[in-house]
Order: sequence, then structure tokens, then C-alpha cells
Amino acid sequence: MAYVQSDGSWGWSNAGLVLGDGSSLLVDTLFDLRLTQRMLDAFQPFVRTAPIRSLVNTHANGDHCYGNQLVKDADIISSTAAAHEMTEVPPAMLAALNADSGEVGELFRRFFGSFSFEGIELTLPTRTFDGRLDLEVGGRMVELIEVGPAHTKGDVIVHVPDARTVFTGDILFIGGTPIVWVGPLSNWIAACDLMLGMDVDTVVPGHGPVTDKRGVTQVRDYLSYIESEATKTHEAGLDAFDAAREIARLMDVQGVSFTQWGEFGRISVNVDTVYRSLDPEHRSPDVVEQFRRMAEIESSSGAFGA
Ligand SMILES: [Zn+2]
Repeated sequence: MAYVQSDGSWGWSNAGLVLGDGSSLLVDTLFDLRLTQRMLDAFQPFVRTAPIRSLVNTHANGDHCYGNQLVKDADIISSTAAAHEMTEVPPAMLAALNADSGEVGELFRRFFGSFSFEGIELTLPTRTFDGRLDLEVGGRMVELIEVGPAHTKGDVIVHVPDARTVFTGDILFIGGTPIVWVGPLSNWIAACDLMLGMDVDTVVPGHGPVTDKRGVTQVRDYLSYIESEATKTHEAGLDAFDAAREIARLMDVQGVSFTQWGEFGRISVNVDTVYRSLDPEHRSPDVVEQFRRMAEIESSSGAFGA
């Protein structure tokens, strides 16, 4: 079953539960302790006879693993790359940014001000894998498939064949714009193709409402579009941020439907990632500058969702 939060915008992630006979598997925790506890309370009637014995973190972003300490008796599983990446952005760093009184704190709270990072202890996976891991959960088969680096360094999707369901983590954003922090985009497109080839009816994204293969196709189309446009602007010698603004402007003028998606400013990160994959010498801006650019693109036109 899926646990879907709010509108799926920044930090409002989804999670899932695979109920087996006598034990169950949780797919992801949430961004803070309060939200994760609220979810565990909602699952309580279901897990009374089938306790959560394992937890999969689909990737290293805090909105998918910062609640881990509330299920620390479970086996916590992720890809090796994701487990490593979790140590790079500890919760204390976000708590400090949230409390920062300067311009950076203000920018941070614009995106993440609804969450509380106090008291979060980094709780790392106890078991890691590379490529693929098949699990048995109370008599049911569950396939963990590493499809990253794409959104992050070690993205994993969770396929439950008997439920014809896939939990995609942040390999899918529905209603919001995908953000390709690591890439290359080709890995993410390949992950979409993998899901399109699966025998599934239900697709649970990392953010936004539950969908089916049509949602996968939309994300694939967006990524292909950005990759092809950014390759052209790169060939023309345009700077990455200028290119993002120009591609965004043209999409708006031409009425391309992707401009109606939330968090449209993520195009600046996505174009930059295409540039990095085309040119290993390309220097990406730091994460604060990436957030500044996203905010700038989203405030530069009334047509862009906030
Ligand atoms: Zn997320």
C-alpha cells in the first residue's frame, strides 16, 4: 500500500508498505520524525500481526530516510552508493540551515521551512547491495533494482510482482518536475524504459499521486526533451544557466505542457547535469547557487508554478 503526502512538492515524499504473512517491508521513511511517526501510526492496524522487519531506503535524500531511527529494529537496506551518500548530508546540517538567520537560511526555509530537523539521528542502512537484491517478505517476493546514478548516486526501485506494483522512489515525480542531481539523464530514461517493460498496473512515485505507466511515459518524455534541447544549446556554446532560462522561455511561449508542472525551476539543475555529462570539465554551481537559480526561474514568469 502507498502512503502519499500532500502535493508532493519539496520534501513532501511518499512511502509504501508491503504486507506479508507475519512480517512486512517499509519502503522509505519521511523527512522528519513527526511525519514519520504519523505514518507509522497510520500503518499500525496493518502491521500489528505483521511487524515491519525490513526497511528499504530508495535513495539518500533526507525526505526518504530521515525517519529511519523510528524503525531502527528493522533491517535497513539500500544500495551501497545510497548508503555512502547518506553520510554526505547529515540531518544536523539541515537543522543548522533551518536556524540560519542570513540569506542562505531564508532561501533554505523557502523550500524546506515546513519541516523540523531537530533530534534526527543519522540512522544508516545495515545491509547494502549493488545492482539487484531479491527479498522474501512474509511469503512474498520483492525485487530491489538499482537504477542510479540518476536522481541521486544510488537510486533503487522496488518491484512487487504479485501486486503488479512498483515503488519508484524519486525516479518519478508526478505533478512536479523531476530533478536530476547526478545523472546522466540517459540512466533515468533507461529506468523509465525498464518500468515500462514491467508487468505492473500501479506505479507509486516518490512524490505526487499514484499513477500508472502513463506517468512513467510523461517523465520519460520530459527527460528526453531536456536532454535534446540542452545538447543543442551546449553545441551552440550557451552558458548552462542562460540555456536553462532560454529553454524555459521557449517552452512557455510554445505552450509545452511541462511548464505547468510544479517546481518548474528544477530545469536549471537538469540542464546543468546535461552539460556535465557532455563535458567532464564543466563546473556545476554549489547547491546554494542551484537553489538560487531554481527560485529565479520560478519567479521570472507568471506561468511557472511556484
Ligand atoms: Zn524525494
